[in-house]
Amino acid sequence: MKIAVVGTGYVGLVSGTCFAEMGNDVWCVDKDEEKIAGLQNGVIPIFEPGLKELVQKNSDRLRFVTDISEALQEANICFIAVGTPPGEDGSADLSAVLAVASSIGKAMVRHMFVVDKSTVPVGTSRKVRQAIQHELNLRGSNLTFDVISNPEFLKEGTAVHDCLLPDRIIVGTDTDKAARLMSDLYKPFLRSTGRLLQMDIASAEMTKYAANCMLATKISFINEIANICELVGADVNKVRMGIGSDPRIGYSFIFPGCGYGGSCFPKDVQALIRTSGGLGYDARILQAVEAVNESQKLALPRRIVARYGESLTGLHFTCWGLSFKPDTDDMRCAASLVIIDELTKRGAKVHAYDPQAEKVARTIYFRDNESIEYFDGKYDALKGCDALILITEWKEFRSPDFERIKECLREPVIFDGRNQYEAESLQEMGFEYHQIGVGDNF
Ligand code: NAD
Repeated sequence: MKIAVVGTGYVGLVSGTCFAEMGNDVWCVDKDEEKIAGLQNGVIPIFEPGLKELVQKNSDRLRFVTDISEALQEANICFIAVGTPPGEDGSADLSAVLAVASSIGKAMVRHMFVVDKSTVPVGTSRKVRQAIQHELNLRGSNLTFDVISNPEFLKEGTAVHDCLLPDRIIVGTDTDKAARLMSDLYKPFLRSTGRLLQMDIASAEMTKYAANCMLATKISFINEIANICELVGADVNKVRMGIGSDPRIGYSFIFPGCGYGGSCFPKDVQALIRTSGGLGYDARILQAVEAVNESQKLALPRRIVARYGESLTGLHFTCWGLSFKPDTDDMRCAASLVIIDELTKRGAKVHAYDPQAEKVARTIYFRDNESIEYFDGKYDALKGCDALILITEWKEFRSPDFERIKECLREPVIFDGRNQYEAESLQEMGFEYHQIGVGDNF
């Protein structure tokens, strides 16, 4: 098939590359000229395991362009995979999606299957349809098109794997030919696992929000239980195992921590709250999920303040991990932003180490924060610091050399935002170990 994918971010670049891997001809389109120039020269703009190799492997079937007309000269399927960030009131900002829809209407030269992969509120397909039709009318064109909803479920950090071996593909259509096309397109992806669920467009759009809101709810739920555990003198790690053993609950996604971040959960929870509010429904569970999460990002600073006092002037903290989760350089809405901001506001200096996100941190998020120093190695970052704070659970932080940590730190103190370590063995080694959901007097 001949496919255009507009937006070459985490979703567009990965899915475009995976479509090429399955033998399709793919045009990846982005308005960011620097990004496209880089991709034309083999520079991958994001860190995503396996992506670089897959782009190289499929270079003869992948083209990178800034002009959508070039792509639509050949393609008859056009995916929209641009960002839908929160607008000022938290609702999804559809300006990029609708701008792409207009450009499709201007550039299409044959029947077009327009597939929305961006996460968008129910009703967006109608707006996309109107934007395309408006341009066709201006051109006096009688070309026809289908609009399809195909929300994406890949996870940053395992995006290539998720895309090649999806758990499920959700497709929302309102014509048989669109349903058949999507089924043919995804057949090669579903040979070993996963299934394709066909439904109406509104249900497909809603499925994406429901999925992300459920996952965010699980995280805020276990964080709330963790906070209560701290107060009542229970250990959330044991409680987690205890509840996970019930198959109705299960073990997945109930890890206590310092809050969810990333480009999806925060904005999608907010967007569904706004959608519901606009229709007169007060989404109370989702509001609580969001409120618990915001507060949870301050869980570690609260513990640190309880330990050292309100002012942290003169103290140095090592932060391991800046990205919102492991295996990505994405720092959108990361807990590290809130934690480091809070510590440095209180006068502390931070030594930061992240396997991939340092450049993003330096150039985008902490450009103006002079209290942060970056290090190339996790042990170097510890030297002369008063405590280690684990923020992101990168694999390289899982089994560190604790003796070396002890030698490097001024005092053997660890604040663990992801409950990665064994409290007993750390205490035997002489560490003061603070985790989420386990009170200091446990
Ligand atoms: P991103 O910010 O990484 O990439 C978006 C890209 O679109 C950018 O390269 C930008 O330059 C480009 N763009 C914006 N407007 C454009 C236009 N008019 N023409 C051409 N290109 C344009 O975004 P992302 O993380 O890939 O997310 C895209 C969508 O997919 C969002 O709706 C998001 O909610 C959803 N989603 C994201 C993930 C994820 O893990 N990142 C997972 C599932 C779904």
